[in-house]
Amino acid sequence: MKLSEFPVFFPDATRGLIKSLDTSDIESTKTQGLLVNTYHLYKDLGIKFIKEKGGIKKFMNWKGFVISDSGGFQVGSLIKMNPTKGHVSNNGVLFKPEGEKQVMLTPEKSIEFQMELGSDMVVVLDDFTDPKATHEEAKISVERTINWARRSKHEFEKICSQKQLAVDHRPLIIGVVQGGYYQDLRKYCIENLLKIGFDGLGYGGWPINDNNTFDYESAKTIADNTPKNYLLYGLGVGKPTQIIKLFKMGYSIFDCVLPTRDARHGRACITNTKTLDLTKGKMKDDDNPISTACDCLTCTRYTRSYINHLFKLKDFTAGRLVTIHNLRFYSMLIEKLRA
Ligand SMILES: [Zn+2]
Repeated sequence: MKLSEFPVFFPDATRGLIKSLDTSDIESTKTQGLLVNTYHLYKDLGIKFIKEKGGIKKFMNWKGFVISDSGGFQVGSLIKMNPTKGHVSNNGVLFKPEGEKQVMLTPEKSIEFQMELGSDMVVVLDDFTDPKATHEEAKISVERTINWARRSKHEFEKICSQKQLAVDHRPLIIGVVQGGYYQDLRKYCIENLLKIGFDGLGYGGWPINDNNTFDYESAKTIADNTPKNYLLYGLGVGKPTQIIKLFKMGYSIFDCVLPTRDARHGRACITNTKTLDLTKGKMKDDDNPISTACDCLTCTRYTRSYINHLFKLKDFTAGRLVTIHNLRFYSMLIEKLRA
């Protein structure tokens, strides 16, 4: 099965799992693919182990698609926010996780590991543009991102030829556009990534503005400057309304931790803009399902009242049932966009 139908939404199975669900639960939500995290799996399992297990899908017994991110977002979220957690150089990224051994991730290692994971879509390592960066600082991250993209593509071609992968058996490879809020740098980054050549481009960096709103301007710059035969990927996007807006711009790949993380805190998606807090006291006597428009296991079997009871008991089942519902909500959203 080759990834060919878009749009797609990949919930985050960072370390090779969605908390409280097994892969048969995930299948029941009609979720087509999962996102796994290169940095965490590389650190937790390593290349040799994942190779021996025959890749992440076999290890998890997951029959759907898998996309692996590059570890680039961790550069931003871990190191640039807190320099004691590691160091970025032109060679790559040195992570220093607390109480664990150091991990060096280079563009080549990231691609090599993702190829052993057996991902359907690999993402090149990028240098996260700090949202507070000056133009000069942002330019440095863009130049490094382009350089790493070139090295990644070279490694990808090398491994494809070593493994004798025919063009239609290769994973898709995605370049990442950095540049922060500087639209001239976003364009410059795109121009150079196009020269290297990828199957698609991702909207990288931190997509939230200073005033706490989504940065649609950068998303649009990327969409407007990328050829139509390229896939566009909204990394870490997002809320249903953001997915819909980016889809209209031409984006067709999305991943986000939101539906599963919200679910564990008792927030169930009921419309594209509203969630229902199942932990609240007013749910105690509500005998309705989370949503009458949903065909998931949770909505066809259980009431809001019962799930509220499970949250009060702090039982794992509560998070599990809402996660199943939220994943089905997102898969239905994607079905609607396809239609
Ligand atoms: Zn449901």
